[in-house]
Amino acid sequence: MENVWQWLFGEGRFLGIEWHFWKAVGWLGNVTFFSRFVVQWLATERRRQVTVPAAFWWLSLTGALLLFSYALYRRDSVFIFAYAFTWIPYVRNLVIHHRTLAAIRTCPACGAQSAPHARYCHLCGKGLDQPAGTPAPA
Ligand SMILES: [Zn+2]
Repeated sequence: MENVWQWLFGEGRFLGIEWHFWKAVGWLGNVTFFSRFVVQWLATERRRQVTVPAAFWWLSLTGALLLFSYALYRRDSVFIFAYAFTWIPYVRNLVIHHRTLAAIRTCPACGAQSAPHARYCHLCGKGLDQPAGTPAPA
């Protein structure tokens, strides 16, 4: 027990790490970035198909920005470059995700929600009004 305590808090450290503000920022970035895999895995298991929830992109963006901040503090060019541009696809995926949610179709008859491109309600079969600009079926 004494050894465990020594390992956890020995020599003014926690887990053998010498903590300071930027070390906490870096580790918070690591934990945030890692947690996205857990979130994505759980979402996939829940739906039993590969699923990437918006939370995955938010955790990616937050973790990458925290790690980028830490990289700047460290002035490590390799580390800085690794996280300098990753935010671009994360933000783009969040924008696309938001647009897809906004375009989801709601059936006027039963209230079921269908995919943006759906022509008929997947529950009751009622035709859905087509958004402006949709080509008529052949
Ligand atoms: Zn319906």
